[in-house]
Amino acid sequence: MTAINIVIIGYGGMGSYHQKELMPHELVNVVGVYDIAQKAKDKAREAGLMVYDSLEQVLNDVSVEAILIATPNDVHKALSIAALRAGKQVICEKPVAMNVGELDDILAVAAETGNTFMVHQNRRWDPDFLVIRELYQRGQIGDLFQIESRVQGANGIPGDWREQAEHGGGMLLDWGVHLIDQILWLIDSPIKSMTADFSYVLGQEVDDGFILYLIFENGIRSLIEVGTTNYSQLPRWYVKGLNGAAKIDDWDLSGEIVVATNQDDLVAPAPIKAGVGLTKTMAPPSEEATKKVAITEVLPEFPSFYQNFYDVLRNGAAPIVKNDEVRKVLSLIDSVFDLVKL
Ligand code: NAD
Repeated sequence: MTAINIVIIGYGGMGSYHQKELMPHELVNVVGVYDIAQKAKDKAREAGLMVYDSLEQVLNDVSVEAILIATPNDVHKALSIAALRAGKQVICEKPVAMNVGELDDILAVAAETGNTFMVHQNRRWDPDFLVIRELYQRGQIGDLFQIESRVQGANGIPGDWREQAEHGGGMLLDWGVHLIDQILWLIDSPIKSMTADFSYVLGQEVDDGFILYLIFENGIRSLIEVGTTNYSQLPRWYVKGLNGAAKIDDWDLSGEIVVATNQDDLVAPAPIKAGVGLTKTMAPPSEEATKKVAITEVLPEFPSFYQNFYDVLRNGAAPIVKNDEVRKVLSLIDSVFDLVKL
């Protein structure tokens, strides 16, 4: 089987990361790069890559089988459609498009041409998420009923197109799309209700963070929070199950899982001093009836993104990131924008 000849459109932060860190050479062969910025072209040449003069040149190159789109979000639709129509297989960065209407236009052309269109929702492979997924699926702390997922930075919105609404800036479309994708992929139940709020601490035209609270029909509650003005951070994950709780501090899997061992061993909590008062209610869990379990890495039972892309093209495998799942996420994002506008 031969490697897939791919061209990267948009050789900025993520386009170059794909080429340097993510693309396995035995599966994909980077033929070249197309970018509109001189700086990016220079960077590509320095990396030893061929740089195309125009988009047409890329699309007319019959040696190119696939295109990776890693440009700002507002041009994903036009580039995806042009590439699909030119007979190319397409990987598009997240968020796939600015809204569901745009995505539907892309999916219509993918269906019409029969070409593959896959979205790089890479955070399904994040080690911290895989631990939460394992807890959810295997019930080590019982059925989960509350899942809190947060990412919090302190440096504001990066000073590029992410600050501008016309390019699809803002944190809901940036980190929000990852965190929502993880939660909707995990919880197989319709959403019963949602509440949301954006933050504009920095006074910019796009959201610098948001809080989204989802209640699913199966009773699970999920809080998703993104912030960019947090000088101190809450844990990446905090989840509660009927039989324990887990806290994952960051992407490095530090944190703890506390599991209730035997309810019969529970001793009535003694009051503890809390501030200037006393409390039994807020006393820590009884040491006799709980144990702490180390968080260990969970390997995915599914292949890497690029292995899957290769298998979809060469072996007729099903995509791990399915377009109807991507559509559900974008549709929820559309609803959040509508809700908060009201
Ligand atoms: P960036 O600004 O670093 O790079 C974007 C590049 O696209 C620039 O070099 C720019 O010149 C080029 N470009 C803009 N319009 C173009 C056009 N019409 N044709 C060709 N090139 C064009 O941005 P980035 O951080 O690399 O983000 C790019 C995409 O990747 C975004 O959609 C972003 O959401 C996504 N992203 C995904 C992840 C992830 O973990 N999956 C991480 C970062 C960024």
